[in-house]
Amino acid sequence: MNYIPDILKKVIEDISNLPGYGEKSAQRLAINLLKLPRGEAVDLIKHIAQMLDKIHPCKECGIYTDQEICPICSSEERDKTHICVVEESFDAYAIEKTGKFKGVYHVLGGRLSPLEGIGPEKLNIKTLIERIKKYQVKEVIIATNPTVEGEATGNYIYNLLKKYPLNITRLAYGLPFGSVLENADDFTLSKALEYRVKI
Ligand SMILES: [Zn+2]
Repeated sequence: MNYIPDILKKVIEDISNLPGYGEKSAQRLAINLLKLPRGEAVDLIKHIAQMLDKIHPCKECGIYTDQEICPICSSEERDKTHICVVEESFDAYAIEKTGKFKGVYHVLGGRLSPLEGIGPEKLNIKTLIERIKKYQVKEVIIATNPTVEGEATGNYIYNLLKKYPLNITRLAYGLPFGSVLENADDFTLSKALEYRVKI
């Protein structure tokens, strides 16, 4: 007997195709959407559509922005010879919140994950090399997450960059291993940045 309505099944299937969502969490999200007052649910969908329409990666650094070149890359006050490499935009926003970094970012758009079939070709790495040459970059700070996959990604980038005449540093430990930058408090994150170490 087909007791789950087709469209509900379809929505759950769509949500569970998103990384990080299993069938149970997809069901929960679908049900929570159904429980929302209709106006709120419609607004949410409208905002998602607007977001998809307006937000895209910055042409320079890959951070999600509503402009062609993000405000950080287009600022005269930012030092383009210091690049901080992060996995996702929210990692860059978290570092930005500390107010301690005056360089620019480079957003990889993920991390290496052989299990999920994410290899280097799926990450925003090529443009990093182009930027290093173009701006004669002096320092690359590897700020991938302190997780097994984040470390592997950081090592991959280190090996790729070590032939260039620049300092390669990484965030100091103190960040709990297995955590994500986005969840670190400002103090821990600004200390990790301040005491970054040469690789
Ligand atoms: Zn940018």
